[in-house]
Amino acid sequence: MNQKENSAVEQKQSHAELPGFAALGLSGALLKAVAQSGLSDPKPIQEQAIPPHLAGHDILGIAQTGSGKTAAFSLPILQKIVNLGSKRGPKSARALILAPTRELAVQIEEMIRAVSKGLHISTALVLGGVSRNSQVKKIKLGVDILVATPGRLVDLVREGDVSLAETRYLVLDEADRMLDMGFLPDVKRLAKATHPKRQTALFSATMPAEIAALAESLMKEPVRIEIAPQSTTANEIEQGVVMARKRQKRPVLARMLADEKMGQVIVFARTKHGADIVTRNLERDGFAAAVIHGNKSQNARQRALNGFREGSIRILVATDIAARGIDVPGISHVINYDLPDEAESYVHRIGRTGRNGANGVAVTLCDPSETDKLRQVERIIRMRLPVLASHLDQPDPEPRKPEPGEPRAEPHGADAGRNPHGKSRSAHHRPKNLSRKPPREAAKDQPAPNRHHPAEAERAERTAKPPRKKFRGRRFGRKAAAKAA
Ligand code: AMP
Repeated sequence: MNQKENSAVEQKQSHAELPGFAALGLSGALLKAVAQSGLSDPKPIQEQAIPPHLAGHDILGIAQTGSGKTAAFSLPILQKIVNLGSKRGPKSARALILAPTRELAVQIEEMIRAVSKGLHISTALVLGGVSRNSQVKKIKLGVDILVATPGRLVDLVREGDVSLAETRYLVLDEADRMLDMGFLPDVKRLAKATHPKRQTALFSATMPAEIAALAESLMKEPVRIEIAPQSTTANEIEQGVVMARKRQKRPVLARMLADEKMGQVIVFARTKHGADIVTRNLERDGFAAAVIHGNKSQNARQRALNGFREGSIRILVATDIAARGIDVPGISHVINYDLPDEAESYVHRIGRTGRNGANGVAVTLCDPSETDKLRQVERIIRMRLPVLASHLDQPDPEPRKPEPGEPRAEPHGADAGRNPHGKSRSAHHRPKNLSRKPPREAAKDQPAPNRHHPAEAERAERTAKPPRKKFRGRRFGRKAAAKAA
């Protein structure tokens, strides 16, 4: 046992008789603030991570959202910062926490503020998609804890608005998700800019080779902590499948949501476009719903999430961007409108319900073309999902007549009417008076949207396709899934 490990054991022994977080080494005002914030007995990940972190070790945590990892990495950092007092250099951050999504970053900062009330800890958020001036202003005098997504922070560091030279605590949260989203080069750049004697904690739900290599390059003899994934612990979630063809999914969903027993519901769609269509169809079917996906502005995403969290929004439609990291208590149902491209995402999606011991229900709508994906999910969760109902012996619903003034009926399924490549409407759905022109020429016939008209401009932005990129090999798996979200 080395010296550091010895001191960790001694520290643990000397606190062993104290209850709760005190036994892990937290003390003084922080201990009081933590108790007041409502955190009860430490969770296993906190028991395992806090003492070695306080003793100066790097931490490698394999754990998911819901395990209590945010407090596991925040509390020891807070304890050290409280002990150091309030000396901060301009534009500096004593601790840096990097998260892959803006929602997760916001959630982490909220948690830190909640557990450090009254301790004069200054925090700041640096996120893409929102004004940088207010972020720069907040950091000007220096902060204790900076929570950031990597892209924007790289810009601010490069331009000299933030200095990480005095950052001695670094946390990488959901590192595998950062890898999926292509953030690894930025993460490495930022880590390099921190103090050479920093302490690092890295948390990841999975440990692909790239993350193991990153951990190896950024940490020294880390203490490794592994918490069982939700796929093997979330027994509280009742799961099942409803077989329905793509065009049947819309009315099936509407009937499910009409059930008053359903409280707050999150509906997952596979693509951003699909999520928009599901939301529009829900609204047309009389349900108020908000949508959250990667093409929405940060303000719109946060507004939707806040409304859902406060309960003013009952139905949230989301892509996999919300499948991880988001912690909204009290979601009674998760509905998978489409199966995810990656079986692993299923586990993250259903983990939004049944949180903190509550009961939850997860229902997956499955078109026959999705059965391969369903089997992959079943392999991962190591159980056969019961078929709760099947609509396959029933005819597809009649296409709905547009309301007066409504442009045209939308397809029934999130991606219904699209060919397998998701590019254009099939001949079956083309209005009869339209000639069969190549798509590009047909597009030329459409009047250009009036971008000064707010609704038209918004519609154009929503439906605009990103410029086609040169295809460079396989586009499947994790990266494609992250792109779709
Ligand atoms: P996380 O995995 O960090 O997203 O935490 C999941 C949820 O568990 C959050 O709502 C936390 O507030 C909650 N939580 C974390 N630690 C504790 C604790 N020791 N006691 C009660 N709730 C906790």
